[in-house]
Amino acid sequence: MSVEPVVIDSIINGKKHKAEKQAPRENPANPKEVVGYAPLNTKDETIQAIDAADQAFTEWRQSSFEDRITRMRRAIQKIKDNASDIAALLSREHGKALYDAKGEIAVSLMWMEFACDNVMEVLQDEVNEHDGGKTIIARDAIGVISAISPWNYPISLSTIKIAPALLAGNTMVLKPSPLAPLAVSRVAEIIAGEFPAGVLNLVHGEAEVGVELTSNPKVAKIAFTGGTETAKHIMKAAADTIKHMTLELGGNDAAVVLEDFDVNDEKAMRRIVVSNFLTAGQICMIAKRVYVHESIYEAFIEKYREAADKWIRVGDPFAEDVTIGPVNNKKQMEFVQGLIDDSKQKGAEVIKLGKIMDEDLFKQGYFMQPTLVLGADYDDPIVEQEQFGPTVPILPFKDDEHAIHLANKSIYGLTSSVWGKQEHAVKVAKRIQAGTTMINTAAIQGLDVRFPFGGVKQSGIGREYGKEGLLAYAETHVINMPDELDLPYIPE
Ligand code: NAD
Repeated sequence: MSVEPVVIDSIINGKKHKAEKQAPRENPANPKEVVGYAPLNTKDETIQAIDAADQAFTEWRQSSFEDRITRMRRAIQKIKDNASDIAALLSREHGKALYDAKGEIAVSLMWMEFACDNVMEVLQDEVNEHDGGKTIIARDAIGVISAISPWNYPISLSTIKIAPALLAGNTMVLKPSPLAPLAVSRVAEIIAGEFPAGVLNLVHGEAEVGVELTSNPKVAKIAFTGGTETAKHIMKAAADTIKHMTLELGGNDAAVVLEDFDVNDEKAMRRIVVSNFLTAGQICMIAKRVYVHESIYEAFIEKYREAADKWIRVGDPFAEDVTIGPVNNKKQMEFVQGLIDDSKQKGAEVIKLGKIMDEDLFKQGYFMQPTLVLGADYDDPIVEQEQFGPTVPILPFKDDEHAIHLANKSIYGLTSSVWGKQEHAVKVAKRIQAGTTMINTAAIQGLDVRFPFGGVKQSGIGREYGKEGLLAYAETHVINMPDELDLPYIPE
């Protein structure tokens, strides 16, 4: 079904702004179809957006929590009212199945509501009356925030930044990815419409826009989600003006299946499959390499294949029985295929999983049949690199020490999971280097917006979600009123 292309504008200082150039966004299930057009903003337009945010900050930082929360709750209601249209647009431009697009919006709303419910308690002044006098720990707004988001979860990874930033009294310029710019812009338009002009600005484009957003002296903080390589450029661009940063980067999450995992637990097995292939494997926190204790390895593979063949149904993202849509873009598809071909050449076995629901559609779009890679070496690129697509290597390990060594042998440390008897799994989990380790669940299935999320090592700096995700948008400001004006060791 072909639908009229949507046209998105940028938003600068509360007004819709028509850019001179537009970039088409294709439908990954049918690349000949243009889903819509997003602006290709220039450096000058980006500067205008930053200036607008900077001017708005002076007043916005003085607004009350009550005012900010009321505005954000109105935006939440409007997003809810428009959720089906936004989900359909997201599904069409991204390729993710419709249930998955709806899920992304639901998680975004959960977080926005959590932020509204908790911001006052977390960021209110903490007044300490002590025997040396009185101290107020205030949480000041930081200033202009540049928010840069990726294509895989464009709405949730933008609202994860917008909600706490605005509620804490900051202003923002948001730049979504050109590979899924449309639905998130609908959400940003709704939010921007509820706030004073300049508080939330929206620009689109490529590196020219990104470089300005990360180097302009008026920007106080960068909130970035994307690849680790891009983050290195961003850190360099931001160095001259020592910007604050929250960086949510790549991951190569290990799933460790212990010898006491029950391979006959069909629900748990389905959770492992989902944790490998949801959103066609294009999630930062998906289990990207699975290590299984050698004593249950053969039985695990047999049951895993049964579970995968049942759950994986690749096809039209709008079809009800489909669980996995196409990959988002051609470059990503080719990269993932390259990793699979490389492991085949090195002698690994590549096993196709699940069903293709519509062969003609499959040939037309960026579809990939999910694969399982067996017999890869521990150091092969398919194991060491973040695939970010529908393929997963499963490898055996000897004992807990070996599994912990393999899990930690990575430049990344975003999430991880351990599967088995709870007490044993927690013992192993404590020794894995990661921001989150989930027990008997993984990826989005184990995500909880009430708790902080982020990576260690090259998976990032800082945390989003939870109370830490609110504190990340405030400066700690101590106002000290000592009884004695000088410390006793300073001579009179
Ligand atoms: P990417 O790094 O290519 O792009 C992310 C964003 O940065 C896009 O908006 C892009 O236009 C922009 N950008 C590109 N060059 C820039 C520059 N020089 N300066 C400023 N901005 C620039 O990432 P992607 O391909 O969109 O997303 C996939 C990656 O994101 C994966 O590595 C994935 O693991 C990671 N990711 C991490 C998390 C997390 O929470 N840790 C969540 C989702 C995705």
